Amino acid sequence: MAQVRLNHIFKKYSNGFAAVNDFHLDIKDREFLVLVGPSGCGKSTTLRMIAGLEDISEGDLYIGDRRVNDVAPKDRDIAMVFQSYALYPHMNVYDNMAFGLKLRKFPKDEIDKRIQEAARILDITHLLDRKPKALSGGQRQRVALGRAIVREPQVFLMDEPLSNLDAKLRVQMRTEIAKLHKRLETTVVYVTHDQTEAMTMGDRIVVMKDGIVQQVATPTEIYNHPANQFVASFIGSPGMNFIKGSVKEEGGKVKFTAPGMDIIFPDDKASALRSAGYIGKDVTFGIRPEDIYSDNQFIEANPFQSNIKADIDVVENMGSELYVYFNNIGGNQMIARVDAREGLKHGMNVTLGMDLSKCHVFDAQTELSVF
Ligand code: ATP
Repeated sequence: MAQVRLNHIFKKYSNGFAAVNDFHLDIKDREFLVLVGPSGCGKSTTLRMIAGLEDISEGDLYIGDRRVNDVAPKDRDIAMVFQSYALYPHMNVYDNMAFGLKLRKFPKDEIDKRIQEAARILDITHLLDRKPKALSGGQRQRVALGRAIVREPQVFLMDEPLSNLDAKLRVQMRTEIAKLHKRLETTVVYVTHDQTEAMTMGDRIVVMKDGIVQQVATPTEIYNHPANQFVASFIGSPGMNFIKGSVKEEGGKVKFTAPGMDIIFPDDKASALRSAGYIGKDVTFGIRPEDIYSDNQFIEANPFQSNIKADIDVVENMGSELYVYFNNIGGNQMIARVDAREGLKHGMNVTLGMDLSKCHVFDAQTELSVF
């Protein structure tokens, strides 16, 4: 079994800086867990503590049933893949992959068996004789993965392994790592600052900010039900639109009001706001760009929609869709993501429809999600 248990883990560096605060999580056996967050949020420090490359200031770390706080990295049964491939330049691919096993005094034929199998899985058999300088970036990254695979560790730790690759290769390697994980059936802890990698690869995602875990959930849950405004803004591209305003009740209807906006919430959202005591309170309204529509059919037919008048500022053509940057009457900058066939252009003044069944509301003070 290779579950990893972080039991109230803290990291304080020697200069007193608290990089990780009370990280508490059970990573399941064979789970692909992604740690994501902006630069400096403590994700690499967390991974390095699991690897044993960084001391744990407080808390207990278990790999399987063993408490490993004081176990040396080489004895933790983990393998780590870094952003920099760190291959030995004077050794060919075969020897790079064999190195760790030779150090651990594995028999020659066992080493060969593992290398041939890993090379086959990664499609690098034809490269085994080459030196790293004769490989492309993607091939080098595969060798780095191969070197980790041959160890047959209980847990793979990956720290931004794809960030040195160009955009196309990154997409390709993303799916390869996901396939590899299914095939190897091991636990993976993967660090990235890229929300797309987190969404596409993770069984669960941990979103971190300033050393504190903000939310742990499946990609779908995080996307549809972000725990707070930070998670809502970090996950999703382009990011969610936020408008500051307040909740009012008039004639039995619960509304969100802000300069130039007067929105009547659908009944379920109205009840949620009422029962959580938000009538009369300041809130932040959130709507994702893809939940804003420009086609008349949606605007006419959807009962849970609300119109906004939009002055289109900039239109980014993504091919199949348009990112439409506009100002609403209240002067809020917003983004809609609409079908390219809608033909929206800079300078147009149009009516857009928001799908209120998908809207979010956050507490103005705590920034926690109401829904
Ligand atoms: P990035 O994506 O930029 O690598 P990260 O989320 O992985 O960011 P960490 O490398 O875990 O961030 O660093 C978390 C915080 O701890 C940062 O503010 C960093 O400056 C600080 N930090 C890292 N190493 C040390 C150290 N040795 N001494 C003091 N502070 C440190």
